[in-house]
Amino acid sequence: MQTKDNQIIVVNNLYKTFNDNIHALNGVNISVNKGEVVTIIGPSGSGKSTLLRCMNLMEVPTSGNVFFKGEALHIKDKNINQLREKMGMVFQSFNLFPHLSVLENITLSPKLVLKMSDEKAKELGASLLNQVGLSDKIDSYPNQLSGGQKQRVAIARALAMNPDVMLFDEPTSALDPEMVGEVLQVMRNLANQGMTMVIVTHEMNFAKDVSDRVIFMAEGEIIEIGEPTQLFNKPKEVRTQTFLKRVL
Ligand code: ADP
Ligand code: MG
Repeated sequence: MQTKDNQIIVVNNLYKTFNDNIHALNGVNISVNKGEVVTIIGPSGSGKSTLLRCMNLMEVPTSGNVFFKGEALHIKDKNINQLREKMGMVFQSFNLFPHLSVLENITLSPKLVLKMSDEKAKELGASLLNQVGLSDKIDSYPNQLSGGQKQRVAIARALAMNPDVMLFDEPTSALDPEMVGEVLQVMRNLANQGMTMVIVTHEMNFAKDVSDRVIFMAEGEIIEIGEPTQLFNKPKEVRTQTFLKRVL
């Protein structure tokens, strides 16, 4: 399949079945363009995380293809890790290395994978921490940080590999309410800087503000996809209408 130059990710007819009988994805098609912010909303169990995880082959599709910058991803390719590094992933549960300082969490991959010098890596780490508003935490350890601070470090760590796209799976769902805003602000800034982003979120106001397109999923399918004003204010599909009535 030929993808267009401005398409960073193309998902083509993707199916994912768990244990032979759980149909998590049932023929999903979506492309994400350079600089675009695409958010995915939908009820729990609708396949949002599975779709996101299939995009970088953390989950191997049962059938269908994922293209990243024009290349079909195959789990057995020897360059799969290189491609994956260009897709930053941020999870609900931070996943920082507890025994490493904030700076070391951020510089580990650039040093190991990109063979960046200590000096250059430290410079990069400091600049990313400045970007997420945590310059004063450079020598702290994860257990000395609040949830919102941990998540901002996780974002900085993903950015350290200079990714072409950032994938976020409910990045604020594990946070106390007063910390949600600071993480969303960092994500907003990234979007404004032109970062390509795919975001699974329950933060509907954020999705409305920041998205170029919103995807509504249910039962492993994309039910509706549209610009935020259309999808939130004038949803076409009954299932979208029902879902939005419940959550808005
Ligand atoms: P969402 O993120 O929208 O809540 P998920 O993608 O996590 O949905 O899950 C979609 C469906 O796939 C659900 O029925 C879920 O239970 C199932 N599922 C997800 N991951 C696994 C797994 N590793 N093993 C078995 N079933 C799974
Ligand atoms: Mg999920």
